Amino acid sequence: MSTHDYHRNTLHIDGRWVTPSSAEVIEVVDPATEQVIGHVPAGTEADVDAAVAAARRAFDPLISVEERKRRLAAVIDAMEKRLPGIAETITREMGAPIRVSQTVQTQVPLAVARGFAAALEEIPFSERIGNSLVLREPYGVVAAITPWNYPLYQVVAKVLPAIAAGCTVVLKPSNIAPLSVFEFVEAVHEAGLPPGVVNLVTGPGARIGEYLSVHPDVDFVSFTGSTEVGSRVGELAGRSVKKVALELGGKSANVILEGADLAAAVKVGVGNAFLNGGQTCMAWTRMLVPLSRYSEALEIIEATVPKYTVGDPWDPDTRIGPSASAAQYETVLGFIERAPADGARLVTGGLGRIRDTGYFIAPTVFADVLPDSELGQQEVFGPVLAVIPFRDTDEALEIANGTDYGLSGAVWAADDETAIAFARQVRTGQLDINGGRYNPAAPFGGYKKSGVGRELGRFGLEEFFQIKSLQLS
Ligand code: NAD
Repeated sequence: MSTHDYHRNTLHIDGRWVTPSSAEVIEVVDPATEQVIGHVPAGTEADVDAAVAAARRAFDPLISVEERKRRLAAVIDAMEKRLPGIAETITREMGAPIRVSQTVQTQVPLAVARGFAAALEEIPFSERIGNSLVLREPYGVVAAITPWNYPLYQVVAKVLPAIAAGCTVVLKPSNIAPLSVFEFVEAVHEAGLPPGVVNLVTGPGARIGEYLSVHPDVDFVSFTGSTEVGSRVGELAGRSVKKVALELGGKSANVILEGADLAAAVKVGVGNAFLNGGQTCMAWTRMLVPLSRYSEALEIIEATVPKYTVGDPWDPDTRIGPSASAAQYETVLGFIERAPADGARLVTGGLGRIRDTGYFIAPTVFADVLPDSELGQQEVFGPVLAVIPFRDTDEALEIANGTDYGLSGAVWAADDETAIAFARQVRTGQLDINGGRYNPAAPFGGYKKSGVGRELGRFGLEEFFQIKSLQLS
Protein backbone atom coordinates (compact mmCIF):
# COMPACT_ATOMS: atom_id res chain seq x y z
CA MET A 1 0.00 0.00 0.00
CA SER A 2 1.28 3.52 -0.69
CA THR A 3 1.93 5.87 2.19
CA HIS A 4 -0.71 8.47 2.84
CA ASP A 5 -0.87 11.53 5.03
CA TYR A 6 -4.22 11.25 6.76
CA HIS A 7 -3.48 13.97 9.32
CA ARG A 8 -3.93 17.14 7.37
CA ASN A 9 -3.11 20.38 9.12
CA THR A 10 -2.92 22.75 6.18
CA LEU A 11 -5.21 24.20 3.55
CA HIS A 12 -4.26 24.96 -0.03
CA ILE A 13 -4.53 28.70 -0.59
CA ASP A 14 -2.77 30.88 -3.16
CA GLY A 15 -0.60 28.02 -4.42
CA ARG A 16 0.77 27.08 -0.98
CA TRP A 17 -0.12 24.71 1.83
CA VAL A 18 -0.90 27.15 4.64
CA THR A 19 -1.74 26.86 8.31
CA PRO A 20 -5.45 27.56 8.83
CA SER A 21 -6.70 30.33 11.06
CA SER A 22 -8.02 27.84 13.62
CA ALA A 23 -6.25 24.84 15.15
CA GLU A 24 -9.50 22.87 15.27
CA VAL A 25 -9.77 19.75 13.18
CA ILE A 26 -12.52 17.47 11.85
CA GLU A 27 -11.92 13.76 12.34
CA VAL A 28 -12.27 11.27 9.52
CA VAL A 29 -13.57 7.79 10.38
CA ASP A 30 -13.02 4.53 8.50
CA PRO A 31 -16.59 3.19 8.21
CA ALA A 32 -15.37 -0.42 8.00
CA THR A 33 -13.59 -0.25 11.38
CA GLU A 34 -15.31 2.74 13.02
CA GLN A 35 -11.81 3.99 13.90
CA VAL A 36 -10.61 7.56 13.45
CA ILE A 37 -7.98 7.44 10.70
CA GLY A 38 -7.09 11.09 10.39
CA HIS A 39 -8.32 14.64 10.33
CA VAL A 40 -8.61 17.76 8.22
CA PRO A 41 -8.60 21.40 9.27
CA ALA A 42 -11.82 22.99 10.46
CA GLY A 43 -11.37 26.09 8.35
CA THR A 44 -13.09 29.38 9.11
CA GLU A 45 -14.54 32.37 7.28
CA ALA A 46 -11.07 33.96 7.40
CA ASP A 47 -9.65 31.01 5.45
CA VAL A 48 -12.48 31.31 2.92
CA ASP A 49 -11.75 35.03 2.54
CA ALA A 50 -8.08 34.29 1.88
CA ALA A 51 -8.94 31.55 -0.62
CA VAL A 52 -11.52 33.65 -2.48
CA ALA A 53 -9.12 36.61 -2.59
CA ALA A 54 -6.40 34.36 -4.05
CA ALA A 55 -8.86 32.97 -6.61
CA ARG A 56 -9.93 36.50 -7.53
CA ARG A 57 -6.31 37.63 -8.02
CA ALA A 58 -5.58 34.56 -10.13
CA PHE A 59 -8.59 35.11 -12.37
CA ASP A 60 -7.65 36.43 -15.79
CA PRO A 61 -10.70 36.92 -18.01
CA LEU A 62 -8.42 37.18 -21.04
CA ILE A 63 -6.59 33.89 -20.41
CA SER A 64 -5.62 32.23 -23.69
CA VAL A 65 -7.12 28.97 -24.85
CA GLU A 66 -3.60 27.53 -25.07
CA GLU A 67 -2.97 28.29 -21.41
CA ARG A 68 -6.25 26.59 -20.39
CA LYS A 69 -5.27 23.50 -22.37
CA ARG A 70 -1.82 23.49 -20.78
CA ARG A 71 -3.28 23.72 -17.27
CA LEU A 72 -5.86 21.03 -17.93
CA ALA A 73 -3.35 18.60 -19.43
CA ALA A 74 -0.92 19.15 -16.55
CA VAL A 75 -3.61 18.45 -13.95
CA ILE A 76 -4.85 15.34 -15.76
CA ASP A 77 -1.27 13.98 -15.97
CA ALA A 78 -0.53 14.62 -12.31
CA MET A 79 -3.88 13.20 -11.23
CA GLU A 80 -3.46 10.05 -13.30
CA LYS A 81 -0.16 9.26 -11.55
CA ARG A 82 -1.87 9.44 -8.19
CA LEU A 83 -4.95 7.37 -8.97
CA PRO A 84 -3.76 4.11 -7.35
CA GLY A 85 -3.09 5.95 -4.08
CA ILE A 86 -6.32 7.91 -4.28
CA ALA A 87 -8.25 4.64 -4.77
CA GLU A 88 -6.80 3.30 -1.51
CA THR A 89 -7.71 6.47 0.32
CA ILE A 90 -11.29 6.38 -0.97
CA THR A 91 -11.67 2.82 0.32
CA ARG A 92 -10.24 3.86 3.66
CA GLU A 93 -12.31 7.00 4.16
CA MET A 94 -15.70 6.00 2.76
CA GLY A 95 -15.60 2.23 2.52
CA ALA A 96 -16.02 1.68 -1.22
CA PRO A 97 -14.78 -1.85 -2.04
CA ILE A 98 -11.23 -1.60 -3.37
CA ARG A 99 -12.33 -2.95 -6.73
CA VAL A 100 -14.91 -0.16 -6.98
CA SER A 101 -12.29 2.41 -5.91
CA GLN A 102 -9.82 1.18 -8.52
CA THR A 103 -12.41 1.29 -11.28
CA VAL A 104 -15.52 3.47 -11.01
CA GLN A 105 -14.19 5.77 -8.28
CA THR A 106 -10.95 6.65 -10.11
CA GLN A 107 -11.15 5.55 -13.74
CA VAL A 108 -14.46 7.31 -14.39
CA PRO A 109 -13.04 10.64 -13.14
CA LEU A 110 -10.07 10.14 -15.48
CA ALA A 111 -12.44 9.53 -18.42
CA VAL A 112 -14.49 12.55 -17.36
CA ALA A 113 -11.34 14.69 -17.14
CA ARG A 114 -10.29 13.63 -20.64
CA GLY A 115 -13.83 14.39 -21.78
CA PHE A 116 -13.33 18.01 -20.77
CA ALA A 117 -10.04 18.16 -22.69
CA ALA A 118 -11.88 16.87 -25.77
CA ALA A 119 -14.80 19.26 -25.21
CA LEU A 120 -12.41 22.21 -25.01
CA GLU A 121 -11.41 21.51 -28.62
CA GLU A 122 -15.04 21.89 -29.72
CA ILE A 123 -15.92 25.17 -28.01
CA PRO A 124 -16.33 28.15 -30.35
CA PHE A 125 -14.83 30.87 -28.17
CA SER A 126 -16.20 33.45 -30.54
CA GLU A 127 -18.95 33.06 -33.08
CA ARG A 128 -21.00 35.29 -35.33
CA ILE A 129 -24.77 35.68 -34.97
CA GLY A 130 -25.85 38.23 -37.55
CA ASN A 131 -23.92 41.42 -36.86
CA SER A 132 -22.90 40.24 -33.42
CA LEU A 133 -19.68 38.67 -32.27
CA VAL A 134 -20.63 36.33 -29.41
CA LEU A 135 -17.83 35.57 -26.98
CA ARG A 136 -17.54 32.83 -24.38
CA GLU A 137 -15.59 34.14 -21.42
CA PRO A 138 -14.59 32.35 -18.22
CA TYR A 139 -17.33 32.82 -15.63
CA GLY A 140 -15.06 33.92 -12.79
CA VAL A 141 -14.43 32.62 -9.28
CA VAL A 142 -16.18 29.28 -8.73
CA ALA A 143 -17.09 27.80 -5.35
CA ALA A 144 -17.21 24.01 -5.73
CA ILE A 145 -19.04 22.22 -2.91
CA THR A 146 -18.97 18.43 -3.15
CA PRO A 147 -20.36 15.30 -1.40
CA TRP A 148 -18.66 12.12 -0.19
CA ASN A 149 -20.10 9.34 -2.34
CA TYR A 150 -17.67 9.59 -5.27
CA PRO A 151 -15.19 12.02 -3.71
CA LEU A 152 -12.77 12.30 -6.64
CA TYR A 153 -15.38 12.20 -9.38
CA GLN A 154 -17.41 15.00 -7.79
CA VAL A 155 -14.36 17.24 -7.56
CA VAL A 156 -13.17 16.43 -11.09
CA ALA A 157 -16.65 17.17 -12.50
CA LYS A 158 -16.34 20.74 -11.20
CA VAL A 159 -12.66 21.70 -10.88
CA LEU A 160 -11.56 20.43 -14.30
CA PRO A 161 -14.19 22.23 -16.38
CA ALA A 162 -13.52 25.32 -14.30
CA ILE A 163 -9.82 25.13 -15.23
CA ALA A 164 -10.72 24.35 -18.85
CA ALA A 165 -12.97 27.39 -19.01
CA GLY A 166 -10.31 29.64 -17.46
CA CYS A 167 -12.06 30.04 -14.11
CA THR A 168 -10.47 29.87 -10.66
CA VAL A 169 -11.80 27.73 -7.85
CA VAL A 170 -12.34 27.48 -4.12
CA LEU A 171 -13.09 23.85 -3.37
CA LYS A 172 -14.97 22.66 -0.29
CA PRO A 173 -15.24 18.86 -0.16
CA SER A 174 -17.36 16.75 2.18
CA ASN A 175 -15.99 16.12 5.66
CA ILE A 176 -16.88 12.42 5.40
CA ALA A 177 -14.38 11.79 2.59
CA PRO A 178 -11.97 14.73 2.31
CA LEU A 179 -8.65 12.85 2.37
CA SER A 180 -8.71 11.73 -1.26
CA VAL A 181 -9.46 15.33 -2.20
CA PHE A 182 -6.25 16.47 -0.49
CA GLU A 183 -4.38 13.96 -2.67
CA PHE A 184 -6.12 15.37 -5.74
CA VAL A 185 -5.13 18.91 -4.73
CA GLU A 186 -1.55 17.72 -4.22
CA ALA A 187 -1.67 16.60 -7.84
CA VAL A 188 -2.98 20.02 -8.85
CA HIS A 189 -0.13 21.59 -6.86
CA GLU A 190 2.43 19.39 -8.64
CA ALA A 191 0.91 20.38 -11.98
CA GLY A 192 2.36 23.84 -11.39
CA LEU A 193 -0.74 25.95 -11.95
CA PRO A 194 -0.36 29.63 -11.11
CA PRO A 195 -1.05 30.40 -7.41
CA GLY A 196 -4.72 30.83 -6.57
CA VAL A 197 -6.20 28.92 -9.53
CA VAL A 198 -7.27 26.03 -7.27
CA ASN A 199 -7.75 26.56 -3.53
CA LEU A 200 -8.94 24.04 -0.95
CA VAL A 201 -10.77 24.94 2.26
CA THR A 202 -12.21 22.24 4.51
CA GLY A 203 -14.43 22.94 7.47
CA PRO A 204 -17.92 22.60 8.90
CA GLY A 205 -20.27 22.10 5.95
CA ALA A 206 -22.92 24.63 6.83
CA ARG A 207 -20.45 27.28 7.98
CA ILE A 208 -18.02 27.12 5.05
CA GLY A 209 -20.62 26.17 2.43
CA GLU A 210 -23.02 28.95 3.35
CA TYR A 211 -20.26 31.53 3.61
CA LEU A 212 -19.06 30.63 0.12
CA SER A 213 -22.66 30.82 -1.15
CA VAL A 214 -23.06 34.41 0.03
CA HIS A 215 -19.49 35.56 -0.58
CA PRO A 216 -19.49 38.75 -2.67
CA ASP A 217 -16.41 37.70 -4.63
CA VAL A 218 -17.74 34.30 -5.69
CA ASP A 219 -19.40 34.39 -9.11
CA PHE A 220 -20.67 30.84 -9.46
CA VAL A 221 -21.54 28.17 -6.88
CA SER A 222 -21.44 24.65 -8.26
CA PHE A 223 -22.95 22.34 -5.67
CA THR A 224 -23.48 18.59 -5.53
CA GLY A 225 -25.23 17.03 -2.57
CA SER A 226 -28.64 16.62 -1.01
CA THR A 227 -31.71 18.40 -2.31
CA GLU A 228 -32.23 19.98 1.11
CA VAL A 229 -28.80 21.61 1.25
CA GLY A 230 -28.82 22.41 -2.47
CA SER A 231 -32.02 24.36 -2.11
CA ARG A 232 -30.46 26.32 0.77
CA VAL A 233 -27.37 27.06 -1.34
CA GLY A 234 -29.57 28.25 -4.20
CA GLU A 235 -31.52 30.51 -1.87
CA LEU A 236 -28.37 32.05 -0.39
CA ALA A 237 -26.63 32.47 -3.74
CA GLY A 238 -29.77 34.09 -5.15
CA ARG A 239 -29.45 36.95 -2.70
CA SER A 240 -26.43 38.29 -4.53
CA VAL A 241 -27.57 36.95 -7.92
CA LYS A 242 -24.79 34.41 -8.30
CA LYS A 243 -25.01 31.65 -10.81
CA VAL A 244 -25.75 28.25 -9.25
CA ALA A 245 -25.54 24.74 -10.61
CA LEU A 246 -27.11 22.08 -8.42
CA GLU A 247 -26.64 18.32 -8.77
CA LEU A 248 -28.96 16.83 -6.18
CA GLY A 249 -30.70 13.65 -5.13
CA GLY A 250 -32.58 11.05 -7.13
CA LYS A 251 -35.11 8.22 -6.96
CA SER A 252 -34.60 6.91 -10.44
CA ALA A 253 -36.81 4.31 -12.07
CA ASN A 254 -35.65 1.26 -13.98
CA VAL A 255 -38.72 0.71 -16.14
CA ILE A 256 -39.03 -2.79 -17.56
CA LEU A 257 -41.78 -2.79 -20.17
CA GLU A 258 -43.68 -5.80 -21.47
CA GLY A 259 -41.56 -7.65 -24.05
CA ALA A 260 -38.18 -6.56 -22.61
CA ASP A 261 -35.33 -8.98 -21.96
CA LEU A 262 -36.38 -9.49 -18.35
CA ALA A 263 -33.27 -11.32 -17.15
CA ALA A 264 -30.93 -8.62 -18.49
CA ALA A 265 -33.11 -5.78 -17.25
CA VAL A 266 -33.37 -7.20 -13.75
CA LYS A 267 -29.73 -8.21 -13.42
CA VAL A 268 -28.36 -4.91 -14.70
CA GLY A 269 -30.93 -3.11 -12.57
CA VAL A 270 -29.87 -4.89 -9.38
CA GLY A 271 -26.22 -4.14 -10.11
CA ASN A 272 -27.01 -0.50 -10.73
CA ALA A 273 -29.02 -0.16 -7.52
CA PHE A 274 -26.24 -1.67 -5.40
CA LEU A 275 -23.23 0.00 -7.04
CA ASN A 276 -21.14 1.75 -4.39
CA GLY A 277 -23.50 0.32 -1.76
CA GLY A 278 -26.41 2.24 -3.28
CA GLN A 279 -24.65 5.52 -2.52
CA THR A 280 -24.98 6.72 -6.07
CA CYS A 281 -27.17 9.70 -6.88
CA MET A 282 -28.09 8.22 -10.27
CA ALA A 283 -28.88 4.74 -8.88
CA TRP A 284 -32.02 3.05 -10.21
CA THR A 285 -33.54 2.54 -6.80
CA ARG A 286 -37.06 1.77 -8.07
CA MET A 287 -37.57 -1.23 -10.34
CA LEU A 288 -40.88 -1.01 -12.21
CA VAL A 289 -42.06 -4.42 -13.43
CA PRO A 290 -45.24 -5.41 -15.36
CA LEU A 291 -47.61 -7.46 -13.23
CA SER A 292 -47.58 -10.19 -15.87
CA ARG A 293 -43.85 -10.80 -15.22
CA TYR A 294 -43.70 -9.80 -11.58
CA SER A 295 -43.10 -13.18 -9.95
CA GLU A 296 -40.54 -14.09 -12.62
CA ALA A 297 -38.71 -10.83 -11.94
CA LEU A 298 -38.66 -11.47 -8.19
CA GLU A 299 -37.19 -14.92 -8.77
CA ILE A 300 -34.38 -13.43 -10.87
CA ILE A 301 -33.76 -10.84 -8.17
CA GLU A 302 -33.51 -13.50 -5.48
CA ALA A 303 -31.03 -15.45 -7.59
CA THR A 304 -28.98 -12.33 -8.39
CA VAL A 305 -28.65 -10.58 -5.04
CA PRO A 306 -26.36 -13.17 -3.38
CA LYS A 307 -23.64 -12.17 -5.88
CA TYR A 308 -23.51 -8.80 -4.12
CA THR A 309 -21.29 -9.88 -1.29
CA VAL A 310 -20.98 -7.48 1.63
CA GLY A 311 -17.88 -7.25 3.75
CA ASP A 312 -14.26 -6.21 4.04
CA PRO A 313 -13.78 -3.46 1.45
CA TRP A 314 -10.13 -4.54 0.99
CA ASP A 315 -11.16 -7.99 -0.19
CA PRO A 316 -11.08 -7.84 -4.01
CA ASP A 317 -14.21 -10.04 -4.16
CA THR A 318 -16.33 -7.70 -2.04
CA ARG A 319 -19.07 -5.95 -4.01
CA ILE A 320 -20.62 -3.86 -1.21
CA GLY A 321 -18.67 -2.14 1.55
CA PRO A 322 -20.04 -0.35 4.59
CA SER A 323 -22.24 2.73 4.50
CA ALA A 324 -19.93 5.72 4.44
CA SER A 325 -20.76 7.07 7.88
CA ALA A 326 -22.59 6.30 11.11
CA ALA A 327 -25.24 8.87 10.23
CA GLN A 328 -25.82 7.36 6.79
CA TYR A 329 -25.98 3.87 8.33
CA GLU A 330 -28.68 4.93 10.78
CA THR A 331 -30.64 6.69 8.03
CA VAL A 332 -30.63 3.62 5.80
CA LEU A 333 -31.61 1.26 8.62
CA GLY A 334 -34.49 3.59 9.45
CA PHE A 335 -35.89 3.25 5.92
CA ILE A 336 -35.60 -0.56 6.12
CA GLU A 337 -37.27 -0.63 9.51
CA ARG A 338 -40.24 1.52 8.46
CA ALA A 339 -40.93 0.03 5.01
CA PRO A 340 -43.05 -2.98 6.12
CA ALA A 341 -45.51 -0.69 7.90
CA ASP A 342 -46.22 0.85 4.47
CA GLY A 343 -47.04 -2.57 3.03
CA ALA A 344 -43.65 -3.36 1.48
CA ARG A 345 -42.64 -7.04 1.57
CA LEU A 346 -39.04 -7.92 2.37
CA VAL A 347 -37.64 -10.19 -0.34
CA THR A 348 -34.02 -10.34 0.82
CA GLY A 349 -31.66 -8.53 3.20
CA GLY A 350 -33.03 -6.48 6.05
CA LEU A 351 -31.80 -5.31 9.41
CA GLY A 352 -29.61 -8.27 10.43
CA ARG A 353 -26.13 -7.31 11.59
CA ILE A 354 -23.43 -8.34 9.10
CA ARG A 355 -20.34 -7.75 11.24
CA ASP A 356 -19.73 -6.65 14.82
CA THR A 357 -17.86 -3.57 13.69
CA GLY A 358 -18.47 -1.28 10.75
CA TYR A 359 -21.53 0.19 9.12
CA PHE A 360 -22.43 -2.82 6.98
CA ILE A 361 -25.92 -3.33 5.60
CA ALA A 362 -27.12 -6.36 3.64
CA PRO A 363 -28.32 -5.65 0.10
CA THR A 364 -32.03 -5.34 0.66
CA VAL A 365 -34.95 -5.71 -1.71
CA PHE A 366 -38.56 -4.88 -0.96
CA ALA A 367 -41.40 -5.97 -3.25
CA ASP A 368 -44.95 -4.56 -3.41
CA VAL A 369 -43.63 -1.08 -2.65
CA LEU A 370 -46.42 1.44 -2.99
CA PRO A 371 -45.38 4.29 -5.33
CA ASP A 372 -46.49 6.92 -2.84
CA SER A 373 -44.93 5.30 0.24
CA GLU A 374 -41.76 6.61 1.87
CA LEU A 375 -39.63 3.95 0.17
CA GLY A 376 -41.30 4.68 -3.16
CA GLN A 377 -40.60 8.40 -2.87
CA GLN A 378 -37.51 9.18 -0.83
CA GLU A 379 -33.85 8.75 -1.59
CA VAL A 380 -32.31 6.14 0.73
CA PHE A 381 -28.65 6.30 -0.37
CA GLY A 382 -27.96 2.73 0.71
CA PRO A 383 -28.29 -0.79 -0.74
CA VAL A 384 -32.08 -0.83 -0.81
CA LEU A 385 -34.09 -1.60 -3.95
CA ALA A 386 -37.85 -0.99 -4.18
CA VAL A 387 -39.73 -3.21 -6.63
CA ILE A 388 -43.01 -1.76 -7.83
CA PRO A 389 -45.50 -3.61 -10.07
CA PHE A 390 -47.54 -1.84 -12.76
CA ARG A 391 -50.57 -2.86 -14.85
CA ASP A 392 -49.89 -1.06 -18.14
CA THR A 393 -47.54 1.41 -19.80
CA ASP A 394 -49.57 4.44 -18.74
CA GLU A 395 -49.33 3.42 -15.13
CA ALA A 396 -45.59 2.75 -15.51
CA LEU A 397 -45.13 6.29 -16.81
CA GLU A 398 -47.20 7.76 -14.02
CA ILE A 399 -45.12 5.93 -11.40
CA ALA A 400 -41.81 6.76 -13.12
CA ASN A 401 -42.73 10.46 -13.09
CA GLY A 402 -44.42 10.34 -9.70
CA THR A 403 -41.61 11.57 -7.46
CA ASP A 404 -40.05 14.98 -6.83
CA TYR A 405 -36.85 13.77 -8.46
CA GLY A 406 -35.74 13.37 -12.06
CA LEU A 407 -32.07 12.52 -12.31
CA SER A 408 -31.60 9.26 -14.13
CA GLY A 409 -33.27 5.96 -15.00
CA ALA A 410 -33.57 3.20 -17.55
CA VAL A 411 -36.12 1.86 -19.98
CA TRP A 412 -36.16 -1.68 -21.31
CA ALA A 413 -38.58 -2.74 -24.05
CA ALA A 414 -38.88 -5.20 -26.90
CA ASP A 415 -37.09 -2.70 -29.17
CA ASP A 416 -35.25 0.61 -28.89
CA GLU A 417 -38.00 2.54 -30.64
CA THR A 418 -40.56 1.59 -28.00
CA ALA A 419 -38.12 2.32 -25.19
CA ILE A 420 -37.17 5.71 -26.65
CA ALA A 421 -40.83 6.68 -27.13
CA PHE A 422 -41.39 5.95 -23.43
CA ALA A 423 -38.15 7.67 -22.37
CA ARG A 424 -39.18 10.89 -24.10
CA GLN A 425 -42.07 11.14 -21.67
CA VAL A 426 -40.02 10.62 -18.51
CA ARG A 427 -39.05 13.86 -16.78
CA THR A 428 -35.49 12.95 -15.97
CA GLY A 429 -32.05 14.04 -17.13
CA GLN A 430 -30.56 10.79 -18.31
CA LEU A 431 -31.95 7.35 -19.25
CA ASP A 432 -30.24 4.16 -20.41
CA ILE A 433 -32.12 2.51 -23.27
CA ASN A 434 -32.09 -1.30 -23.31
CA GLY A 435 -28.81 -1.41 -21.40
CA GLY A 436 -27.06 1.46 -23.20
CA ARG A 437 -23.68 1.98 -21.54
CA TYR A 438 -22.43 4.90 -19.45
CA ASN A 439 -21.06 7.80 -21.46
CA PRO A 440 -18.81 10.22 -19.55
CA ALA A 441 -19.17 12.85 -22.28
CA ALA A 442 -22.99 12.89 -22.18
CA PRO A 443 -24.62 15.73 -20.19
CA PHE A 444 -25.68 14.72 -16.71
CA GLY A 445 -28.08 16.55 -14.43
CA GLY A 446 -31.53 16.76 -13.01
CA TYR A 447 -35.10 17.68 -13.78
CA LYS A 448 -37.35 18.82 -10.94
CA LYS A 449 -35.74 18.64 -7.48
CA SER A 450 -32.76 16.70 -8.81
CA GLY A 451 -31.11 19.93 -9.78
CA VAL A 452 -30.31 22.77 -12.09
CA GLY A 453 -27.68 22.73 -14.82
CA ARG A 454 -25.63 19.97 -16.39
CA GLU A 455 -22.25 18.42 -15.74
CA LEU A 456 -19.76 16.47 -17.89
CA GLY A 457 -18.50 16.86 -21.43
CA ARG A 458 -19.29 19.86 -23.60
CA PHE A 459 -22.56 20.72 -21.87
CA GLY A 460 -20.84 20.57 -18.48
CA LEU A 461 -18.06 22.83 -19.71
CA GLU A 462 -20.55 25.34 -21.14
CA GLU A 463 -21.81 26.03 -17.59
CA PHE A 464 -18.49 27.71 -16.79
CA PHE A 465 -18.75 30.40 -19.47
CA GLN A 466 -20.22 33.86 -19.37
CA ILE A 467 -21.59 34.98 -22.72
CA LYS A 468 -20.86 38.43 -24.16
CA SER A 469 -22.33 39.88 -27.37
CA LEU A 470 -20.54 42.59 -29.34
CA GLN A 471 -22.69 44.22 -32.03
CA LEU A 472 -20.41 45.09 -34.90
CA SER A 473 -20.98 48.11 -37.08
P1 NAD B 1 -24.94 17.12 1.74
O1 NAD B 1 -25.94 17.93 1.04
O2 NAD B 1 -25.12 16.85 3.17
O3 NAD B 1 -23.50 17.79 1.62
C1 NAD B 1 -22.94 18.16 0.38
C2 NAD B 1 -21.87 19.21 0.61
O4 NAD B 1 -22.48 20.39 1.13
C3 NAD B 1 -20.82 18.81 1.62
O5 NAD B 1 -19.57 19.34 1.21
C4 NAD B 1 -21.29 19.50 2.89
O6 NAD B 1 -20.26 19.74 3.81
C5 NAD B 1 -21.85 20.79 2.34
N1 NAD B 1 -22.87 21.44 3.18
C6 NAD B 1 -23.55 20.93 4.25
N2 NAD B 1 -24.42 21.84 4.73
C7 NAD B 1 -24.30 22.94 3.95
C8 NAD B 1 -24.96 24.20 3.92
N3 NAD B 1 -25.91 24.52 4.79
N4 NAD B 1 -24.60 25.09 2.96
C9 NAD B 1 -23.66 24.77 2.03
N5 NAD B 1 -23.00 23.60 2.02
C10 NAD B 1 -23.32 22.68 2.96
O7 NAD B 1 -24.84 15.77 0.89
P2 NAD B 1 -23.94 14.50 1.19
O8 NAD B 1 -24.52 13.81 2.37
O9 NAD B 1 -22.50 14.85 1.18
O10 NAD B 1 -24.20 13.64 -0.14
C11 NAD B 1 -25.30 12.85 -0.31
C12 NAD B 1 -26.36 13.54 -1.16
O11 NAD B 1 -25.80 14.06 -2.34
C13 NAD B 1 -27.43 12.62 -1.63
O12 NAD B 1 -28.70 13.23 -1.49
C14 NAD B 1 -27.16 12.42 -3.10
O13 NAD B 1 -28.23 12.11 -3.91
C15 NAD B 1 -26.58 13.71 -3.47
N6 NAD B 1 -25.72 13.53 -4.62
C16 NAD B 1 -26.12 14.03 -5.84
C17 NAD B 1 -25.32 13.83 -6.94
C18 NAD B 1 -25.68 14.35 -8.30
O14 NAD B 1 -24.80 14.44 -9.13
N7 NAD B 1 -26.90 14.69 -8.55
C19 NAD B 1 -24.12 13.17 -6.80
C20 NAD B 1 -23.76 12.69 -5.55
C21 NAD B 1 -24.57 12.90 -4.47
